[in-house]
Amino acid sequence: MGAKKNKEKAAVNEIKKAVEGKISKSVIVPEFLTGASRFRFKCYPGIGCFTKCCSGIKIILSPYDIYRLKNRLGMSYMDFLNGYTAPTTIEGSSLQVVSLAMKDDSARSCPFVTPEGCTIYTDRPLTCRYYPIGMGMMKKDTGNTGEDFFIRVKEDHCLGHNEEKVWTVQEWRQDQESDLYDEMNNDWMAIVLKAKTLGKVEFSQRSLELFYIVSTNLDLFRDMAFTPRFIEAYQLDPETLKKLEEDELELLKFSLKWLRFVTFNEGDFKVDQAARQKAKEKLLARADEERKRHIEEMDSMED
Ligand code: SF4
Ligand code: SF4
Repeated sequence: MGAKKNKEKAAVNEIKKAVEGKISKSVIVPEFLTGASRFRFKCYPGIGCFTKCCSGIKIILSPYDIYRLKNRLGMSYMDFLNGYTAPTTIEGSSLQVVSLAMKDDSARSCPFVTPEGCTIYTDRPLTCRYYPIGMGMMKKDTGNTGEDFFIRVKEDHCLGHNEEKVWTVQEWRQDQESDLYDEMNNDWMAIVLKAKTLGKVEFSQRSLELFYIVSTNLDLFRDMAFTPRFIEAYQLDPETLKKLEEDELELLKFSLKWLRFVTFNEGDFKVDQAARQKAKEKLLARADEERKRHIEEMDSMED
């Protein structure tokens, strides 16, 4: 077996290890997929296993997932976080985020599943869109960066694999709007993948708090971004400010670009360092408060 094949096998094994125990009877198909790879699959109301995949799962929510879901439900970020999420950590890193809180029934069902299907289908999270395809990242020998590859999950209960419909991975991603989600989460994913590639990077508690709050609550970021101190620190011109004030999606993209900049110093911000430090301190104090409050609230619900 060549070096490339060995590397592919190691990458798939790594994903397998990460997924084991999370998906009951999980089966990662031992093959390495690219965008052009083909697979058979079809999921539709009426199939024998309909909605069987919508319970007992851990769905980590990306910033764009949260944005879509809270708008779909007509809620504020805070109300959505308190009502539908639980704090968790991204596997292989110390980064704290939220996952969709499953219901307290025997199956641990998703709060959005009904016998008729998913009630928020057009705004379902990225994890639900990708399924049964998963995205991984191949580590390069040199260390810090990686390239995307895909794996296929084939669980016993999922009958969609027995259907005749054939897709390429790229066609499947387009059909599921995955590209849009990937584009919106691009800077956030870059942070996550880099943190995972570097292993358990020792982030300071403050960086973790900042990552948590910007990843989950755009309202809090907005409070900070429109202060004179932040505007001065990041030298935001009136035109940019207007765009961020008027367009929530632009603000989301900006917040993640900013998060990448302050986490790994990647990106092209013009910065006034003194004002930047003061703006960061302010957000950190608020982030710490909110994260602790969310965790306490979750604890009290479990008592
Ligand atoms: S969000 Fe929808 S598709 Fe995803 S697990 Fe819940 S019910 Fe299923
Ligand atoms: S075919 Fe697979 S993805 Fe579709 S409902 Fe059945 S178990 Fe879920």
